[in-house]
Amino acid sequence: MSVLEIKDLHVSVETEQGTKQILKGVDLTVNEGEIHAIMGPNGSGKSTLAYTIAGHPKYHVDSGSITLDGEDLLAMTVDARARAGLFLAMQYPVEIPGVAVTNFLRTAKTAIDGVQPSIRTWTKQVTESMKNLRMDASFKDRNVNEGFSGGEKKRHEILQLELLAPKFAVLDETDSGLDVDALKIVAEGVNRAKANTGLGIMLITHYTRILRYISPDFVHVFVDGRIAEQGGPELADRLENEGYDRFLASDALAT
Ligand code: ADP
Ligand code: MG
Ligand code: MG
Repeated sequence: MSVLEIKDLHVSVETEQGTKQILKGVDLTVNEGEIHAIMGPNGSGKSTLAYTIAGHPKYHVDSGSITLDGEDLLAMTVDARARAGLFLAMQYPVEIPGVAVTNFLRTAKTAIDGVQPSIRTWTKQVTESMKNLRMDASFKDRNVNEGFSGGEKKRHEILQLELLAPKFAVLDETDSGLDVDALKIVAEGVNRAKANTGLGIMLITHYTRILRYISPDFVHVFVDGRIAEQGGPELADRLENEGYDRFLASDALAT
């Protein structure tokens, strides 16, 4: 069974005002087949965790470790992380002008698997996944993220998730800016990917809304660069009712 392990992770960035510590000791273990909701107020470090897992050069790991099945993820290039089975959907996906969705997906699949997928099965898979996500067939000829609406960007991410079949996925605010219909389609896609491939998911979200459609096994609340509380799905229900006030209040007292 695959496992992604984060241990005592400290991460900082260089800013014009000097070094800013963002993550201050994060411990998190995600096993294959588990859905972990990473919640917390704005600015608590959720995206920083995602960027660090992704290998974004701006985020400096001061101490701690991230391993995938015991392998040091932090020592791997960004490409090697993808080949090792990591998938990352960023809060702000980038445009790739001149690269059509269909070519992008096939290139990514080939890079990850090390072999080109057979055209016949691949075309069938792409068509089926797009249908599941209620995407128009013409979508595959558009340039990646160019002029995509918020909903199209998120569906495109879930399309990648289904087709690339990673071991672990980090989804950063995949729910943001989606109307209820799009949210349900995206949630169904995530649930399907979990059921089909048994992947482990870190679902980063500020809001509890998506958790009505994707039920997490574990919920972690980020506050000021640390996990302040963790629990099961009932913690998400509590956050839905109470918001983050009690965390922010105790945080203010502590500083
Ligand atoms: P969240 O995703 O929980 O809203 P972030 O990880 O985006 O939080 O940000 C955590 C804190 O780190 C914020 O105070 C943010 O301003 C700061 N931060 C994140 N990335 C950078 C960066 N590249 N440069 C400077 N500050 C950053
Ligand atoms: Mg934010
Ligand atoms: Mg964020």
